[in-house]
Amino acid sequence: MFYQQSFDVIVVGGGHAGSEAALAAARMGVNTLLITHNIETLGQMSCNPAIGGIGKGHLVKEIDALGGAMAMAADRAGIQFRTLNSSKGPAVRATRAQADRSLYRTAMRNTLEHAENLTIFQQSVDDLIVENDRVCGVVTQMGLKFKAPTVVLTVGTFLGGTIHIGLENFQGGRAGDPPSNALAQRLRALPFRVDRLKTGTPARLDARTLDFSKMQEQPGDTPIPVFSFMGSVADHPRQVPCYITHTNEKTHDIIRGGLDRSPMYTGVIEGVGPRYCPSIEDKIMRFADKNSHQIFVEPEGLNSIEVYPNGISTSLPFDVQMQLVRSINGFENAHIIRPGYAIEYDFFDPRDLKQTLETKFIQGLFFAGQINGTTGYEEAGAQGLIAGANAALQVQQKDPLILRRDQAYMGVLIDDLATMGTKEPYRMFTSRAEYRLLLREDNADIRLTALGREVGLVDDTRWQAFNHKQELIEQELQRLRGQWVHPDHVAVSELNQLIKNPVSREHSLEEMIRRPEMTYRKLMAIESLGPALKHEQAAEQVEIQIKYAGYISRQQEEIAKAQRHENTLIPADFDFASVSGLSNEVVAKLTDARPETIGKASRISGITPAAISLLLVYLKKQG
Ligand code: FAD
Repeated sequence: MFYQQSFDVIVVGGGHAGSEAALAAARMGVNTLLITHNIETLGQMSCNPAIGGIGKGHLVKEIDALGGAMAMAADRAGIQFRTLNSSKGPAVRATRAQADRSLYRTAMRNTLEHAENLTIFQQSVDDLIVENDRVCGVVTQMGLKFKAPTVVLTVGTFLGGTIHIGLENFQGGRAGDPPSNALAQRLRALPFRVDRLKTGTPARLDARTLDFSKMQEQPGDTPIPVFSFMGSVADHPRQVPCYITHTNEKTHDIIRGGLDRSPMYTGVIEGVGPRYCPSIEDKIMRFADKNSHQIFVEPEGLNSIEVYPNGISTSLPFDVQMQLVRSINGFENAHIIRPGYAIEYDFFDPRDLKQTLETKFIQGLFFAGQINGTTGYEEAGAQGLIAGANAALQVQQKDPLILRRDQAYMGVLIDDLATMGTKEPYRMFTSRAEYRLLLREDNADIRLTALGREVGLVDDTRWQAFNHKQELIEQELQRLRGQWVHPDHVAVSELNQLIKNPVSREHSLEEMIRRPEMTYRKLMAIESLGPALKHEQAAEQVEIQIKYAGYISRQQEEIAKAQRHENTLIPADFDFASVSGLSNEVVAKLTDARPETIGKASRISGITPAAISLLLVYLKKQG
């Protein structure tokens, strides 16, 4: 039965990838359907109730710059905000918000429910309609058929999901939700490479049974950071502190004593887990010399008694979980509300995807989120936005939206996945980007909002706000370049108190700000040189653009150099072994990955610039 004849884009799954995918397609004006298991779990955070962090915060700002919802939802739900790496350079500074799980869900659901061109339907999708290697729609559990020329699958950890607690295991998409077994079987019959991954989560504790006086309080930052370029501190709910405690030798003994009933250490779990977010049993085994590990004790919400002990994710049996939790300072009388668990699930090799996130084998079918081997809400949201936008662009018969590695962390993420694939849950780090100085959180809008506007992702309000900010920045930069101080200037005695070497000749205000001891705000505090811009984001941008101008232009030159060879083609049947000087390992890696261009070859891990030079010389000789 056809419930409704046709949509332009169908998004399956209302998690972080699905929400951004559906909103992106709908913003671009195409008729979009979001089908998800349960409307109550739209925007549900399966694990840690926090958004952002190093590398991840960058993705959130980029999603926001392209009109996405994650940053605004984090602003409305964030109960503790911090700027990580605040003492380091702007490239690696990152925003992180501890979120109220329920407020986050409400914010996301509200955005989805009020989006134009978006229909929401609650049902499990069990099958895809595929004709002549082209997707045509989906079939739900009840046998309802929905037609569309593009389908974005964002089903997270649900495909063939198996939950493990000790040696007990059962099927589930995450605790309390059913797995997607029918769909998993259907997808396994299609020509995609499929494998298993694993992730885990800690036990949740009852705040009323914890002794916070034994823990170290960790307040949020002041001034309170804001995630969205369109947001303000006024969007935030009441702020609360988090706490820190630690595991100890006793905890580690208890864990070691339970390993004979650990699904990971007895070989019951075969999927590979996230190396950068290991379970506590993994930490104890891998870092055997450490006798203590930090635990961030994070509230789940303003009106919730649940607490998330970040750092002790585990799949050990429940009795061992109880003992290990109660061995920790401040947790002596802890009551576990929900047991910790690990989940194994199917993921698809992202090398079977194009850079648009459309699958290579089935036209019109896109994959986004954890299904592509990533972990994290931010990574999922970023892929969702790009997949949703590209599905809409395909319907509109327009050019795809592909972000380059020098344009966005989103570009780095998708290029890494599509070029190199992943053998473990992939998460974003700033170290994955070659051009970190350009890909900062603070300039995500400058990098992406105009692009987003071009394809229809950015609405009028955001576009006007962006242009206003750009004008303020430009005007202020011009003023600072054109205004001078000299030894007889009225401001000079005040100014000399702020700097190491007194003013001995004429300097523009721009030059003054470039001095290491000077900041834009300090300089503008001198009455005759100000006033400072009141627009916080514009003022921050003025300072960064002035202070880092030299480094930024050097990085731009590097990009131009790399781009000259970026698109140099490598023939499909190229014999890498015939290039003399390449090590066997490099030949094996290149032969396995079969990069289409020099740019892609250069990003395969272990492929050195020297190997790229040899390849270039060889190709040049042949060509
Ligand atoms: P999800 O958020 O899982 O959303 C999938 C959605 O699809 C759900 O709404 C589901 O109901 C729906 N769905 C599934 N199948 C169907 C179907 N057939 N029909 C209709 N709807 C369907 N990330 C971290 O960064 N750090 C962590 O420590 C961490 N730990 C985790 C621990 C656990 C136990 C789990 C489950 C996840 C963890 N994650 C962690 C991962 C994080 O939750 C995911 O990366 C993120 O939620 C992925 O987003 P997604 O949109 O791809 O999928």
